[in-house]
Amino acid sequence: MSGESLASSSPSPSAGRSHGRLPLDAVLATDELRRRPARPADPAAENDALTALVEALARPDAQPLQELAECLLGLCRAHSAGVSLLDTDAGQPVFRWRAVAGRWAARRGGTMPRDHSPSGVTLDRREPQLFSHPERHFHFASTLDLPIAEALVVPFFVGDRAAGTLWVLAHDASRRFDGEDARLLTWLARFAALAERADELGRVQAQLDARRLIDDERTAELAGLRRLQELSLRLLRSSDETTLYESVIDAACEIMHSDFASIQRFVPERGELKLLAHRGFEPAAAAAWKWIAPTAHTCCGMALAGKERVLVPDVESFPPLAGTDVLEAYRGAQMRAIQSTPLLSRQGQVLGMLSTHWRRVTHPGAEDLRKMDVLASLAADLLQRAQADQALREADVRKTEFLAMLAHELRNPLASLHNALQIVREAGDEGCAGGAALDDPQAVRAATAIMDRQLAQLVRLVDDLLDISRISRGRIELRKERIDLATVIQQALETMAPMCKQLEQTVTVELPDGPILLDGDATRLVQVFGNLLNNACKYSERGRRVRLAVRVERPAGAGAAGQAIVSIRDEGIGIAVDQLGRIFEMFAQVDTSLERAQGGLGIGLTLVKTVVELHGGRIEARSDGPGHGSEFEVRLPLAGEPAEGGEEGGEGSGAGSGSGHRILVVDDCQDAADSLALLLRNSGHETRVAYGGAEALQVAEEFRPNVVLLDLGLPQMDGYETCRRLRATPACREAFIVAQTGRALDEDKAQTEEAGFRAHLVKPVALEDLAKLLADVPACRSDG
Ligand code: ADP
Repeated sequence: MSGESLASSSPSPSAGRSHGRLPLDAVLATDELRRRPARPADPAAENDALTALVEALARPDAQPLQELAECLLGLCRAHSAGVSLLDTDAGQPVFRWRAVAGRWAARRGGTMPRDHSPSGVTLDRREPQLFSHPERHFHFASTLDLPIAEALVVPFFVGDRAAGTLWVLAHDASRRFDGEDARLLTWLARFAALAERADELGRVQAQLDARRLIDDERTAELAGLRRLQELSLRLLRSSDETTLYESVIDAACEIMHSDFASIQRFVPERGELKLLAHRGFEPAAAAAWKWIAPTAHTCCGMALAGKERVLVPDVESFPPLAGTDVLEAYRGAQMRAIQSTPLLSRQGQVLGMLSTHWRRVTHPGAEDLRKMDVLASLAADLLQRAQADQALREADVRKTEFLAMLAHELRNPLASLHNALQIVREAGDEGCAGGAALDDPQAVRAATAIMDRQLAQLVRLVDDLLDISRISRGRIELRKERIDLATVIQQALETMAPMCKQLEQTVTVELPDGPILLDGDATRLVQVFGNLLNNACKYSERGRRVRLAVRVERPAGAGAAGQAIVSIRDEGIGIAVDQLGRIFEMFAQVDTSLERAQGGLGIGLTLVKTVVELHGGRIEARSDGPGHGSEFEVRLPLAGEPAEGGEEGGEGSGAGSGSGHRILVVDDCQDAADSLALLLRNSGHETRVAYGGAEALQVAEEFRPNVVLLDLGLPQMDGYETCRRLRATPACREAFIVAQTGRALDEDKAQTEEAGFRAHLVKPVALEDLAKLLADVPACRSDG
């Protein structure tokens, strides 16, 4: 039977009385106790008991009140003994049997009501009481399985506070308590008070200790947080990467109380982690762990592969490490416990790794790991910012290199042009514009061919420069129509023919049967494949072969459009694996020395990538490294449906030659004006020239042109003003006025359109473009 059930089943004192129990006086035998002869004291036994009790008080794990109950049992030769303390149970005041020894030992922890119990009576009377068969008055006692023949109870106080009672029981008549027992109980009650006080003091001390512990923890946490805050401030202000990495690993060591720490950056080109800074690694270990692949059995390798923290409290009992070289390396470095936390970008990509290592088996606390997460997100920001800074610096370096390269690239064709001109001059004439007969036609033809080629090169450079500006402003626009990829590739090959011939290279082409229809911008795609073929030849030695192969992939299932895959493979100088990722960046060139044999401005591939992606495709570069050739693979989505009406419409332009326009050419560069007028005249048009705006107005009045080719950059009266004035004259109100300019940006075109120009041609004007344009202009009536 448990004490609890005893207490809870205890009826109220009034209920006891209503059951016709004897009055309290009938069970109180205190007077008789005083009358009973007392046995002599036993100082030796008392001494032993006291020694045991004092020792119990000093032992941290001892229970002094229980020791006291055992003492009482022995000293009073009682059948049961115990200590009851005032307490509450379910809001009711009770005595709790804190310590019980002897036959009632099992009742320890039980309770009895405060007000209707021998202990309650004793506390109220504040002196020892003897009860004889108390069940005759107190209700509870009748529910006990062991009868109580006598109960000797003494109160005890802690300071002024009534704290509880000490008691001894005799369960039968074989033991009767006397004055000596009362003295012993009273004497030992002081010890109970002491134990209680010690217990209370202990609790207060424990509370103090606990508070101090909490304070210490808070202080440590605050220090950790302050460290993190300092770090984030430093991160905002400082630009010295190395110092910042050092600060991060110092903070990691501090937060995790670790012996070592390291920070690594993920290098996407290698797919590996690179050691940036460490604390405590031996030089050999730092060298061995400079690069870590996701397949490595190291903790950071595993954390990289899983994109999650890996925590190894003991490397010796972590199964994935068992028997590996990595475990040996950890042992060599005296690392017993490790954690690696991935540094993730806000998009969830691994940017790097922050690891801490301990010499001893370590289970880091949840709070420390939480701080580690905060530190990791700071470190991730740091890595991201460092990467952005690095990209900016690289872009700056590339731009500088680009300018040097541009000057170099311009000088080449200019030098050739200069030489060719010299040849023409020496051939003995007065000028080429008039087309006079020359003494050495062969030399002149060769020189003219050189000039043609070099001019084309200059035009390409300038076009490239314009494309740079369009790409960086995201202004490349496609004019899409239904086109046949085979035709596009054919045109690209044609542009390459002279170069291949010169380098004695062959381009083999494999095309699938039938048209490969795409919705795309033919001019831009010719530029894409022209650039790729150009690079393939340019970066290959004389006589090498370039292979271009096109295949079509159509996924199973109706409605799926599929894609065209164009591979351009060369046997040239190849590309180092770590450069493959960056050659598509603006101005990126693998060899940036000006002495290099080949090369352009380093924007070809940027343009190629931009155009391919604008078509919804993608491009990939592959190479087995320097000397092993390269392959560029372009994937373009096929058109969803076959082109309506089959083939796209035929040319039918007829180039518009000789359709009899009256053309006024206006340019302050007399050579340019004269030569263009001459060419147009040869094509069957009637022409006049003017070298300025005012002159143009005069000539127009009399000549009444139906087409005016007007340079914008005229001195005094610029092209815009001249256009407006021409439009205001009856002679040119209806004329088709074309702007000729070096400015080819889209906003320049918008500006000329606004000023009243009907078309915009970029200098140097290609004759074919002009012919196409003139073909659409209604021929002039011959009313001159
Ligand atoms: P560039 O004007 O320098 O040719 P690109 O943007 O076309 O500029 O190419 C960028 C760089 O990529 C080149 O400078 C060269 O180092 C490398 N590259 C491009 N194509 C090839 C190729 N087929 N073989 C080897 N290297 C190439």
